Amino acid sequence: MTKFEALGLDQPLLDAISDLGFESPSEVQEKSIPILLGQETDLVALAQTGTGKTAAFGFPMIQKIDVDSRTTQGLILSPTRELCLQITNELKLYSKYLKGLNVVSIYGGASITEQARQIKRGAQIVVATPGRMKDMIGRGMVDISKIDYCVLDEADEMLNMGFFEDIKDILSNTPQEKFTWLFSATMPKEVATIAKKFMHKPVEITVGTVNAGASTVQHEYYVVGGRDRYAALKRLADANPGIFSVVFCRTKRDTQRVAEKLIEDGYNAGALHGDLSQNQRDLVMNSFRKKQVQMLVATDVAARGIDVDDVTHVINYQLPDEIETYTHRSGRTGRAGKSGISMVIVSRSEIRKIKSIESKIKQEFIQKQIPDGIEICEIQLYHLANKIKDTKVNQEIESYLPAINDVLDGIDREELIKKIFSVEFTQFYNYYSKTKDLNTSESGKDRGESKGGEKGEIPSEGSVRYFINVGERDGYDWMSLKDFLRDTLNVEKEDIFNVDTKDSFSFFNSDAHLAEFILQTFTEFKLEGRFINVEISTKPGSGGGGKGGKKRSGRKGGGRKGGNSSFKGGIKGGGRGGNKGGFGKKGGKKRSGFY
Ligand code: ADP
Ligand code: MG
Repeated sequence: MTKFEALGLDQPLLDAISDLGFESPSEVQEKSIPILLGQETDLVALAQTGTGKTAAFGFPMIQKIDVDSRTTQGLILSPTRELCLQITNELKLYSKYLKGLNVVSIYGGASITEQARQIKRGAQIVVATPGRMKDMIGRGMVDISKIDYCVLDEADEMLNMGFFEDIKDILSNTPQEKFTWLFSATMPKEVATIAKKFMHKPVEITVGTVNAGASTVQHEYYVVGGRDRYAALKRLADANPGIFSVVFCRTKRDTQRVAEKLIEDGYNAGALHGDLSQNQRDLVMNSFRKKQVQMLVATDVAARGIDVDDVTHVINYQLPDEIETYTHRSGRTGRAGKSGISMVIVSRSEIRKIKSIESKIKQEFIQKQIPDGIEICEIQLYHLANKIKDTKVNQEIESYLPAINDVLDGIDREELIKKIFSVEFTQFYNYYSKTKDLNTSESGKDRGESKGGEKGEIPSEGSVRYFINVGERDGYDWMSLKDFLRDTLNVEKEDIFNVDTKDSFSFFNSDAHLAEFILQTFTEFKLEGRFINVEISTKPGSGGGGKGGKKRSGRKGGGRKGGNSSFKGGIKGGGRGGNKGGFGKKGGKKRSGFY
């Protein structure tokens, strides 16, 4: 008896499961399937993203549905269109050996009459977003008055998105004597409220630690100046040639902008946000699934619940406003037992947010340095060497060999290797050898190291905004800090202005002509044994910082354009992808690379 059989599943499902290559149930499946099959009960199941919740409710629901009746018996509510489609697809795979089962998904942004038509043909299971569901109930296009089972999938995300009222409305159109199964990654107050209000003595199961990020995800943060965010993103991508990632931005505009810049710079990137047409979104998602798009730049709403295997990195281009959202973002990687990395690009003023995320997800972040140009060049070279080694020889080349040999006559192997690498590499190297260190030090102690590159950044006119690593915690308010600066620098009171103290650091302004002098004064400057660090601030909107300064990262391409296709990755031999104690698929889906 297989482990799935032991859960009480029937043959048609077992056959489908074996086709899918699922070897053994995941924990949430092991815990919920026997309960849902064995008793009629409400259920609250808390489990991280990527733990197999769809099958945890999908298998029992399919088994319990009467396929000979065309009445709608099961309703699954899920937050987004993408998730609806994903769930519907999965359910169809699970039920492939069950004749007569109809699963229909309804969601906004597509023809409502077409969806109504599909429902009319008889759908035992309806998968819906709350908005469209409510709409269709209102128009009498769907009847859920006889359902036996209602699933609230990704309940926390639905509530996050403000669907509480819609859900309440929808549930009031369902019969009293039905069973509700609620699945969620986290358990915020709102979810508890729903459970209390609409469920009767639910069985509760928990997998792993609630509110904790998946343990297969490593969390990293990189401190950079606000204006170096994009340059930092590029370096993170370049330092991970096989990257397959979701890049999160806070707004639709930033999402579009970052994606466009990446594409312009020669990366395989795409944008996913709510301002795109449904058609455009489908195209992007399809290319991403096929790994033709290596970096999917997305807003939180658009990327909710996306289940694409093998995402190697989640990059937080900007931190989300809500900590909960961070959990959802990082859950896009490390799925199905694989490992993943969630990277956060932060400015110094955001380091505090990292600390609060740490305490929320009960996992520590590792502070990492943005790799410098030379490091990236090394990584790329090594990657290229491996790629050459792994490339299958195209036999067509044979007939051209004599002529090629003529051209290359007299060049020995070593020389040839150098030349081949130079063809691919010089452009890349030229770009990176001229770039500066992007890291902003947290403590300020290694300021000396990064200073060289910043010289050119000093604006020559206007006012300059500075960062200083002392603040209210050190007993300063804006007046006393101003006094301290005036005394230390021996300048006039009005030379220092806009002093703005924060908890552990502060900002102030001076006229540009003092900038050189101020930075000089605070080089290696110690007060009571502690380094006091002053740097030109990149905090936006604070008056003048960096205006007229040299553009830092305006260069396009980084050598990626044109004949540089070898830098477009292709995941080979990377250490990732092992199933660390999770469940796995038989034969393991092979990652196809990005050619
Ligand atoms: P969740 O809803 O918890 O985020 P999903 O249901 O989307 O997770 O499942 C994540 C991935 O794991 C999917 O690709 C799914 O096909 C796969 N999966 C689910 N159950 C198993 C299993 N028992 N063995 C192997 N893979 C599984
Ligand atoms: Mg899910």
